[in-house]
Amino acid sequence: MTLLSTELDATAALRLKMQILHHGIVPTRPFLDHYGAPYLEKRRAYGNADDLAFVGDSLPQEAYLGPARIITSLNIRPASPWRLDWSEEEGFFVGDVHGTVVTPVDFPRRPAFYDYPMSSGGTVKNLITLYGGGSLGIFVYGRCALVDMGKACQYCSIEPNRSKTDIDFANVVSEAKLREALALALTDTAAPIKQIMINGGNFPDPDKSFRYYARLVRAAREVLDESGREDIELHLIVYPPSDLELFAELKGIDVGVAINTEVYDAEIFRKICPGKTVVGGQRHLHDALCRAAEILGPGHVYSILVGGLEPQESMDTGMEFLSGYGVTPIINVFHADPGTPLYSHPEPSIERIREMGTSLERLFREHSFMTPFYMSCGRNSIDTEAYLGLFSRLPA
Ligand code: SF4
Repeated sequence: MTLLSTELDATAALRLKMQILHHGIVPTRPFLDHYGAPYLEKRRAYGNADDLAFVGDSLPQEAYLGPARIITSLNIRPASPWRLDWSEEEGFFVGDVHGTVVTPVDFPRRPAFYDYPMSSGGTVKNLITLYGGGSLGIFVYGRCALVDMGKACQYCSIEPNRSKTDIDFANVVSEAKLREALALALTDTAAPIKQIMINGGNFPDPDKSFRYYARLVRAAREVLDESGREDIELHLIVYPPSDLELFAELKGIDVGVAINTEVYDAEIFRKICPGKTVVGGQRHLHDALCRAAEILGPGHVYSILVGGLEPQESMDTGMEFLSGYGVTPIINVFHADPGTPLYSHPEPSIERIREMGTSLERLFREHSFMTPFYMSCGRNSIDTEAYLGLFSRLPA
């Protein structure tokens, strides 16, 4: 594949993103020597997708490709043919193994709010991470009952990350701290915030867990409304309650809720998501998505599929099922995280990423209620690119 260009157009940027999602990327020594402020450093509130030899380095969390600023994750894989590089003449660039410049590259800037002090000690960055250049990620619970049961989702790196890497995040974010940290972050009007994303692990009781997240979402909505920042969306990623009528607690909050399908194939779901199989099961998950969409309305409910863990046919069936019930499918391309049971599972091929993106793009065309969950800030997600119709513009 020839990508050589100094100014990638949007489709060439998507082609490079697909390459990076498949192969990962590796930083060169000159890159590591020069990367730092004013750029944003990678932080790992949830999992870690990088080769462990690099977790102590200052790395970019993601990159903007081309003038279209297509955003991609930068999962570090030493065997990748793609390089994050730096030279005196070019500055930062993505290159190949020969040091050839493929394209200059830009990175999100480190927001000033990271260093705003909290009243109880520490700073806002101990509670909030800026992802994808525009998403304020608040990971409210740093453990998960499914991990504690020994039945973690097979791709989940919350446990290996939180137990082995240097973590300076609060383990449980209280409502009071969320209010304070969020209010502080929103005073930083130079930070390009597009959305607030609340997620985290599951507490043991699904109903209590859901109520906790719903309470924090209500608090976040109040803080957001008080800030006057009407351009910022509020999102929640949550495991469904046992009592599906609890979704009514989110009515009137104007929040996009993601309840993740993970994989649609029933047999693969049982293998990949053993904890979710025991706590409710796949049928409950599907019932929850339908009920949430009934209660909150089409366009307010989303569901992530991990792209690359099941055949395209079953993924297509799953996306048809979701969109048919008023739920917007999201595809996060699978990345094999160190320390997880799926570490040796290959990332999907470039052709597979293209297929899944093309399927999602078709659904965006067919369903007017669908909008991206990660608009312009999806790193391993390809929903923005599908929404923009970039997959159908790729050369054959
Ligand atoms: S629900 Fe699964 S993916 Fe999410 S934190 Fe728990 S084990 Fe990890």
